[in-house]
Amino acid sequence: MDGSRTPPRIECRLQALKLAQACAELGARVRTIAVLTGLPARELLELLFPDRQAVPRGRPPESPDWYHTANLLYRTEASIAMALYRRLREADIGPAEALVGAYRQYRGVCEPPHRISFDRAFDLAGHTDGLWFTSVRSFSLVACPGCHSTFLAAYGAIALSNDECPFCKLVQRYGTDTRVQASFPVRPLADLSGVPLGVRELLRASAPRSAADLEGGDSGKTGSP
Ligand SMILES: [Zn+2]
Repeated sequence: MDGSRTPPRIECRLQALKLAQACAELGARVRTIAVLTGLPARELLELLFPDRQAVPRGRPPESPDWYHTANLLYRTEASIAMALYRRLREADIGPAEALVGAYRQYRGVCEPPHRISFDRAFDLAGHTDGLWFTSVRSFSLVACPGCHSTFLAAYGAIALSNDECPFCKLVQRYGTDTRVQASFPVRPLADLSGVPLGVRELLRASAPRSAADLEGGDSGKTGSP
């Protein structure tokens, strides 16, 4: 028997526990973690929230109506989170792991305070793919014909214009709306002057050799017709 191999049931349980920990670190409520991992809520409560004061509380999100009435910045961030989720799903990553990965990426891309909670992202993804708590799809990710960004829309919607695209609206408002500017600040390009750039280094390294090659080439050519 190969002692180095972990029995599949233990491996499964370890993966579920790791996923549960990742979800809790991202602020998920116990019910969400239970759905994503298949672990019992009571066990999750014991393991993840020994301090009961730290248990995330509040009403669970309900996104199908919320999204269509949410303000522009919420719709933009929801679209970013779901576009990242979709990209990971298309790379054949399972829904729960894709949600965790996408949510981490979303927090890296958007400025705090983040308008989309982990539970909101879970709810949006569930309603987009008909997963976990529903078999009904309420959202589609569609490509804007104007800016080619992917945004969240009602299920089955086809974007014939950029009227519903939050990213196009964001660009239109950017110059006059300080909230939009604060949420998506212009980031200065990194100063790369001190960084040895590949092409520059290549040119520098090849310069003396080129001269030598030229000389060598010239002398070599003396014998040619
Ligand atoms: Zn657009």
